[in-house]
Amino acid sequence: MCVICGLCCTGLLFDIAPLEEPELPLAERLRLPLIQTPVYDAFRLPCPRQDGAVCGVYATRPKVCGTYECGLLQRYTGGEVSLGEAHERVMRVREMTAALRRQVPAGARARPLWDDARAYLDMMDDGLVQPERQREIETLKASLSALRTTIRQDLDP
Ligand code: SF4
Ligand code: SF4
Repeated sequence: MCVICGLCCTGLLFDIAPLEEPELPLAERLRLPLIQTPVYDAFRLPCPRQDGAVCGVYATRPKVCGTYECGLLQRYTGGEVSLGEAHERVMRVREMTAALRRQVPAGARARPLWDDARAYLDMMDDGLVQPERQREIETLKASLSALRTTIRQDLDP
């Protein structure tokens, strides 16, 4: 199921993934973008080791990557959702995300769609917004909101 999805590696569901302290050397070897704080260790998403929809370092991926299961995966493995239905849900989220990605310029470094969208909206909203631009802003906000709702309903992170 996850090999046709990979959405939890993209920053759409979470912007960081937690690491256990003993995993730090491995994470450095994998060149994951580390975040180290006095209270937790993690790496930033989107993950640079994702290759298409699949993990490019599958055999050595951090523990959280092997243990995380979204609600959709749980329902699929529990037999409540068929592979066809799961695929449909994943494709819906993918298509909505791709449409938004076409509207929102990417930042200088890879970051979640939400961060790029926030930066773009801030840039568009200069306090002297023309009606046409205002409509564009509202449409983009509505699309972002629809994507959030769809992720919640279809993937149940
Ligand atoms: S099905 Fe869920 S756990 Fe599997 S890759 Fe997609 S979002 Fe992640
Ligand atoms: S290491 Fe692999 S499974 Fe883990 S976030 Fe990166 S691409 Fe996804």
